[in-house]
Amino acid sequence: MQLTFYAQGSAIEPYTITVTLSDSKLSMTCTCPAGGFKAICKHRLALIAGDPDGLFAGDPDMPVFQSWLEGSNIQSAYHALQRCEDSLSDAKKRLAAAKQRLATAITG
Ligand SMILES: [Zn+2]
Repeated sequence: MQLTFYAQGSAIEPYTITVTLSDSKLSMTCTCPAGGFKAICKHRLALIAGDPDGLFAGDPDMPVFQSWLEGSNIQSAYHALQRCEDSLSDAKKRLAAAKQRLATAITG
């Protein structure tokens, strides 16, 4: 089974995102320059993230994609990525606070 989404980028032609569900394994390709097989691009990330920027808003295949995503290896990998980004964000806040504390200590 396959779904096709179109994302308008900087090029004249929209990029094509193809989602394939085969033997309960989900895969996604994108025709954008960054969309190489082993890389993730913002178009596929936007789809996985539930289209927060409205790039695919109103696409009738979104609910189908969401149902395919549910429980998939892509969804669990995305959640792992989110946890890393949350940890990184917390670490950056602690780093900024530590730098401020040192700056305050240095200047007396
Ligand atoms: Zn892309």
